[in-house]
Amino acid sequence: MVRIRVLARYRVQGRGQGAVGGLELDALAVELALRHGDLAARSEDLDVLVTGPVRGGRGGANAWELVAACRLGRVTATAPPEPVTWSDRLRAVIFDLDGTLFDHESSAVAALRQWVPRLGVETVTDVLLAAWFEAEDRHFGAWQNGLISYVEQRRARLRDFLPHVGHRPGTDAELDRHIADYLTCYASTWQRFDDVDAALTAVARAGLATAVLTNGIDQQQFAKVEAIGLAGRVGPVFTAEAIGVAKPAPITYLTVCERLGVPAEAVLHVGDRHDLDVLAPRAVGLNAVHLDRTGRGPLDEPHRITSLAELGRFLPPAAVGSAAS
Ligand SMILES: [Mg+2]
Repeated sequence: MVRIRVLARYRVQGRGQGAVGGLELDALAVELALRHGDLAARSEDLDVLVTGPVRGGRGGANAWELVAACRLGRVTATAPPEPVTWSDRLRAVIFDLDGTLFDHESSAVAALRQWVPRLGVETVTDVLLAAWFEAEDRHFGAWQNGLISYVEQRRARLRDFLPHVGHRPGTDAELDRHIADYLTCYASTWQRFDDVDAALTAVARAGLATAVLTNGIDQQQFAKVEAIGLAGRVGPVFTAEAIGVAKPAPITYLTVCERLGVPAEAVLHVGDRHDLDVLAPRAVGLNAVHLDRTGRGPLDEPHRITSLAELGRFLPPAAVGSAAS
């Protein structure tokens, strides 16, 4: 039987707020919930009204109680963690950079709060932020797919965004000046996630080599690693620019393995994009863990963490005589 763990903060009628609970329910219960279309793919906002005990078991009452809970919304279903069978053979960990070690989103938002007011718009609204990241996703993705140049993807993002702040896009030269202004702000706001230290310490204790594989360009990605204090602590750094193609091309992952001198099956790849950092490297023989910081899933990924602080459970025991402690 497929078992699905439903995590819920439950509230029992008449007893007030309960604690966070891990409620095991069987496939039938989840199927019923899915049929009602109420199973939300969220990992937060877990308040669920449960009118009675919800336990495992293929049974009407419990299943219907879950359905009732789901109809109130906000239930998260996740796959139970699969046993990790490959930890002991690991020799290296490859980290993604943006969204994994480097907090690109917070850095970009801070940069926009500096830059947009210079364009005459005082308030950086959520709508503006959404427009920025939408343009980034679209045109950076086009570069990753080899459809446009790196310079052009930056101009294209500005062509989309500038009308939102009342500016005509203008000539390429004008766009390049805007880009330079934004990048100056962006370079002043770079920050790493606060769970990076825990992960790197755990990797060092386990005696594993590290590398960074990132879909970016050498100049900016090397500068980020330096600026966030990770130069010498993680690396070497491999970029899509240097390799010649971007993730998810198989050659990107295999190139890093080869350069590390480690076979793919002895490498763990860790990153925030399930497609680029988990499915694609796994397809060419690497092990992979999804860093799902936003809780968007996929929730049925069996090797899923929401913080790098959890990475240690996928690593081999600390190496004897490890310098890191
Ligand atoms: Mg990333």
